[in-house]
Amino acid sequence: MSQSQLPLLKLEGVKTYYPIKGGILQRVQGYVKAVENVSLEVYEGESIGIVGESGCGKSTLGRTILSLEKATAGKIFFKNQELTSLPDRKLKEFKKEMQMIFQDPYASLNPRQRIGAALEEVFVIHTNMSKKERQERVLQLLKEVGLKEEHYDRYPHEFSGGQRQRIGIARAIALNPSLVICDEAVSALDVSVQAQIIKLLKEIQTKHRLTYMFISHDLGVVRHFCDRVLVMYLGNTMELAPSDILYDNPLHPYTKALLSAIPRPNPGVKRERIRLQGDLPNPANPPQGCPFHTRCPMATARCKQERPEWKEVEPNHYVACHEVG
Ligand code: ADP
Ligand code: MG
Repeated sequence: MSQSQLPLLKLEGVKTYYPIKGGILQRVQGYVKAVENVSLEVYEGESIGIVGESGCGKSTLGRTILSLEKATAGKIFFKNQELTSLPDRKLKEFKKEMQMIFQDPYASLNPRQRIGAALEEVFVIHTNMSKKERQERVLQLLKEVGLKEEHYDRYPHEFSGGQRQRIGIARAIALNPSLVICDEAVSALDVSVQAQIIKLLKEIQTKHRLTYMFISHDLGVVRHFCDRVLVMYLGNTMELAPSDILYDNPLHPYTKALLSAIPRPNPGVKRERIRLQGDLPNPANPPQGCPFHTRCPMATARCKQERPEWKEVEPNHYVACHEVG
């Protein structure tokens, strides 16, 4: 692990709400509380996993860090600089250092533009490189992500899913970022292709000293890729710990339930499947108290009233649960 203990990124009480508009006047009638309360430090050189069911706010959190969504409250520090109060011109400089890899890179590619030209565009927008310099840099990038020179002149539809993700990676690292947010970057790929892309992401991380925020609903993939894992539920942080600890000794009832649903490689080892009761509550109208209490097998009267604190129950292991610690 090449992890130093310097926070590259620091979130303090970050909230991101989406207004719900309705009626003939399109007035704001409420808010989807996509990110409700996230405080977190991400260290230089680490890979931190963000897991939780669909709709728990993982993508919104990533987009908020990149300033693609405006935080409703809280502070975001990147390299000790508070981003939410920066003027646009300065923010643009920082934004180059933070990039995102999406689940479907094809969606953001123009079907009629050759890949070489698409990648060059990054340098047209952000640098003063000459045409020749740009071409050389793109060829170098293609090579770095395991593609070939001849791919330069091909169109997006001529690539396989794995190759398209390599293009997504090339685009993300083009401007030498320090933080890369991978949002379900391997979730749509076949298992064998997934393994190749993960290997590539690791090689690139070592070479460029990247910090990864790895968003995924697939807990199996996250375990092996990430140094630490954060579990989210309805926009809230539930548990955070080094991967081995989180997977071997989860403390939060929600983490336990999530983990119990992963198919195990060794069927000889028994682990009871915990079935959550009820449906995921509506994030526009989240439960009082602990957001998980409506589905928690351990919930008490206190859980219905009082929101649990985010506390460090052992070194580097944080949990928000009244019944733990
Ligand atoms: P995840 O990535 O964990 O699946 P998201 O961050 O995409 O979760 O979504 C969190 C919540 O915010 C969901 O309830 C989702 O429907 C809502 N949401 C996401 N994007 C928007 C948007 N642009 N406008 C309104 N609501 C949104
Ligand atoms: Mg998402």
